[in-house]
Amino acid sequence: MQTGDGLLARIVANEPVSVEKLCSLCDASEAYGNGIVEITQRGSLQIRGLTTASAPRFAGIIEILGLDTGSRPLLLTSPLLGIDAGEAFDSTALLAQLKVAFRPDRPDFQGLGAKVSVLLDGGGSLHLDAVPADIRLEATSNYLFKLSLAGDAASAAFVGYVSMNRVVASLEDLLRLLADRGPGARAKDLVAGLSLSAAPAITRPPCDPIGAYPLKDGTFASGFALSFGHTTAAALKRFAKSAADQGVRGLRPVPGRALLAIGSSLAGAEILRESAAKEGFIVDVTDARRHVIACAGAPACASARLPTRELAPDVARAARPLVGTPHVVHLSGCGKGCAHPGPAAVTIVGPDLVVVNGRAGDAASSTVSSAGLVADIERLCNTIQHG
Ligand code: SF4
Repeated sequence: MQTGDGLLARIVANEPVSVEKLCSLCDASEAYGNGIVEITQRGSLQIRGLTTASAPRFAGIIEILGLDTGSRPLLLTSPLLGIDAGEAFDSTALLAQLKVAFRPDRPDFQGLGAKVSVLLDGGGSLHLDAVPADIRLEATSNYLFKLSLAGDAASAAFVGYVSMNRVVASLEDLLRLLADRGPGARAKDLVAGLSLSAAPAITRPPCDPIGAYPLKDGTFASGFALSFGHTTAAALKRFAKSAADQGVRGLRPVPGRALLAIGSSLAGAEILRESAAKEGFIVDVTDARRHVIACAGAPACASARLPTRELAPDVARAARPLVGTPHVVHLSGCGKGCAHPGPAAVTIVGPDLVVVNGRAGDAASSTVSSAGLVADIERLCNTIQHG
C-alpha cells in the first residue's frame, strides 16, 4: 500500500508471534523500511517506509518467518483464543479448520471483496464485542456459536446459534452468497434480504487489553498499548527481549493498538509493565493517551494536512478530562479518517476543521488555528466531561 513515507506492509497475527520472529521482523523493518512499527485499531501490525526495491525482499522475510499477511476473507480472532482461562471451551481446532477453508486459491471465494471479514471470538476476558466484522462467531457454551452479521456485537444482525461441527459449512454458504454478489458486496447487503430476529442483549462489560490476564496453563498474558498506535522497531525489539527474560513465549498485536506478552508469571508481568513503560508504551487504562487517536498524518501520509502524531502528546494532555469516559479525540490528517472510521467526541481534520460528535468526513462545526488547537480541544473536552 502506497503512503507518504513509502510502501506500507500489513501483517495479521491471529496467533502469538515468537520473540525470535518478532525480533527478526523488527530487524527487517529497519533494514527495508523506516523502522516505524504500528499496531492498528483492529490489531494488525504495520511496517512503514518500504520502497519498491526493498518491499519484495521484505516480503521474502515475512514468508520465511511464516507470518500471515491476511486471508480472504480476513480472519479476526480474539486476543487469547484457546488459552484464556475464562473461555467455556477451546476454539483452536475450529480456527485451524477456518484457515484451511479460507485458502487463497479457492475458486468460489474469488469474488469476495478484500475487506470482507470473519470474526471468531472464543469468549473469556478479552472479547471482541467492540470490533465490527461482516460475519461474527461468538463462542457461548456447549460448543455453540452465536452467528451474526454486519456490525459489532451490539449492532450486528442475529442469525442463530450454530454447533461447532456446522460452523465451517454455514460460513461457506454465507461467503459464497457474498462472493456471488461481487467484490463490492458486504454482509450488510445480505442482511437487507433476510428476515432476522432481534439479537440477544449483550451482557459482557467492555474490555481493555491493558492489564494482566490469567491463562489456562497458570501463566499470565500482559497487555500494553502503543502510544498513539506506533513505536520504533528498536523499542519493540528491546521490549520483546525483556519479555523473553520473563519467560514470555509469544507476543501478539491485538485490537485497541495493543500488544499482549503471553506466558509470564504474575511477578514477571509486573516487571514487564516497567519495561513497557520505559519504552513509552501505555501501561495504565487511565492514561489520557488512550483517549487520542491519531492517523499517520504529515509527513508520513501524502494526503495529510496535519502533523497528527507530532500534535498527539499535547492533545493527550488536553484530553485528560475524558479519562473515565468512553470519549475520544480523533486527529485526522484529512477527511478520510483512516484511524477511526466511527464518530468521536472531537475530530480535528487537517488542516483546521473541527467536527464535534461526528466522523472525519462529516460537516465541520468550526475551524481552528494551529496556535489555538490544543486550547480549543481542552475547552471542548471540559465541555464533554461536564456536559
Ligand atoms: S486519514 Fe488521511 S492523512 Fe490520515 S492516514 Fe488516512 S489518508 Fe492519510
